[in-house]
Amino acid sequence: MLPDIENLLRLQEADKEIRRLHEEIAELPKRVAAIEQKLAGTKAQLEKAQSNIKTDEAAKRKHETAITDLRGKISKYRDQSLDVKTNDQYKALLHEIQFAEKEIAATEDKILELMVNADTRAGEVKTAQAELKAETAEIEQEKEQARLRTAEDEKLLAEWKGKRDQHRSGIGDDLLRHYERVSRFRGTGISEVRDHKCMACQVMLRPQTYNEVRSGQQIVFCDSCQRVLYLNPADELVDQKPSMHRPRRHHPKIDAPQAW
Ligand SMILES: [Zn+2]
Repeated sequence: MLPDIENLLRLQEADKEIRRLHEEIAELPKRVAAIEQKLAGTKAQLEKAQSNIKTDEAAKRKHETAITDLRGKISKYRDQSLDVKTNDQYKALLHEIQFAEKEIAATEDKILELMVNADTRAGEVKTAQAELKAETAEIEQEKEQARLRTAEDEKLLAEWKGKRDQHRSGIGDDLLRHYERVSRFRGTGISEVRDHKCMACQVMLRPQTYNEVRSGQQIVFCDSCQRVLYLNPADELVDQKPSMHRPRRHHPKIDAPQAW
């Protein structure tokens, strides 16, 4: 194998690892942000549950004041009833008293309803508080993990960048430029040849091109995708062995009754 090919393969490995590390480093804050969003949702839930309790408490106080007022009215009507001159006046006061008593009963029902609801509301607050506590702990842990992972990734990244520079320096300028240009467009810049095919783009090599790759004397590019081609020495041995399992290849020039 040409030293340039060996260096390109190592360079490609370094490039791949550098890309993976960059992606991982970019992904970590997104995970933290997703939990932070969940946390904000739980905080809003808790605030709503707490505000519901306050609203109910205010309503209960309002109802209690209304009952006190109604009781005051009733006692006033009772006082007045002692001084009435006619039966009609007495009946009218009695009617007012009955009306006020009905209102008191209705308001007491409302208060009771609020008190029953208060238990549910308290439960909601408790649940939201527990969730918030768990999520806060989770986010702290996640942030710490992200911090450690990022630091580790940055360290690896620096190492791989060092390796990449080293491999780059071992490759000729023109070849390096070609590899990097193809890499930028296609994600990879070097491809293995297997069974006469470029494994990256799956296009069959012309026999001439294949022989050039196999000779290992020069750098050969794929006609189709422009990647640098190489033959894995292990595959090369298999390739040279006459095999009965190889798919039959059609040779029109030999098989055809006449040359075209
Ligand atoms: Zn190709």
